Amino acid sequence: MPAGRPSPVWFCLCLFALAACGDSDPVPKSPTAVTPPTPAPIRFQLPTANRALFDTGGEPRFFTATGPDYPWSSGAFGCVRNSGTRFHEGIDIQCLSRDTQGEPIDPVHCAAPGRVAFVNRAASASDYGQYIVVLHEIDQLTIYTLYAHLREIHADIRPQSVVQAGQTLGTLGRSAKSAIPRERAHLHFEIGLLGSPHFDACLRHWYKDPSPNPFGNWNGQNLLGLDPAALLLKQNEARAAFSLRSYITALPALCTVRIHKSALPLAERYPALLAAPALATTPVAYEVDLNPQGVPLRIRALASGVVKPKTGAYELIAVDEALEAQHRCSKLVLKKGRAWTLTDRGQRALDLFAYVPGT
Ligand SMILES: [Zn+2]
Repeated sequence: MPAGRPSPVWFCLCLFALAACGDSDPVPKSPTAVTPPTPAPIRFQLPTANRALFDTGGEPRFFTATGPDYPWSSGAFGCVRNSGTRFHEGIDIQCLSRDTQGEPIDPVHCAAPGRVAFVNRAASASDYGQYIVVLHEIDQLTIYTLYAHLREIHADIRPQSVVQAGQTLGTLGRSAKSAIPRERAHLHFEIGLLGSPHFDACLRHWYKDPSPNPFGNWNGQNLLGLDPAALLLKQNEARAAFSLRSYITALPALCTVRIHKSALPLAERYPALLAAPALATTPVAYEVDLNPQGVPLRIRALASGVVKPKTGAYELIAVDEALEAQHRCSKLVLKKGRAWTLTDRGQRALDLFAYVPGT
């Protein structure tokens, strides 16, 4: 063997030593494909410990009636107030625990992960009392949840705070512009879509001298509530198959309205509601299906061959008369003689989707 060259035995021993040393492994590892974990779909949780909604016949233990002589349904969503003439845009959830003074102590939890959009700590400034609005991005939809009549809001809950599902936001209560009796302490809870991102401009567009709006876009008139109980029950029933987008786009429409504009801010903010496929040309109008509460359910862009341009006008295309009869308090449309027309409320509902300040 030539001098200065290692023997084969020594060479093998060196290789073995290198292979045994984790940090200097000379044998290249074969590349492994890294599949990013699929994020679990976001589901809404009940915002308090009261779960009677999911019990058969549990409604009287879940909803807070408007008084001892009223049924539990007066605390549910929809045309349930003032003999069906006034709309209740959320659900009133009963408290489960009270302190020695009889005041509620139930913690209120965030219903889904999101970001705090608004906090009102001035209890007497709003019918909602102390309330919190949280925004969630779910199924490519921006959804809000609202927690009202709170007794207390945690000090660390501020606009832009990132919040997790189940995180405690505050304590259930009875705060409001007009005091809620102690025995009716409850959480008013909403889930829904945002109306306009320029709500103050809409107010100035509608009224010559609108009252001050300290709530900005988080004013209840600009929050378009879905029925949280129906949504939660459906989600519970469908389990893994539940899709919020499919749920919303399958809801029945009270009316269909054509908006004669080539660009619709609503379609830009909620593209997940747009019917596919997208038009190859610039639309000349949009059709929007609205539910009885004015929530947009489906949007269709229309090409010039389908509809004649009619700048800036709203056109009522169809009304489901049977559904309208079941939701008289919605007042989006009105029958005059044999023809249906949009009411002022209906026109304003569309302004939330179509109005651009300065136009
Ligand atoms: Zn309520």
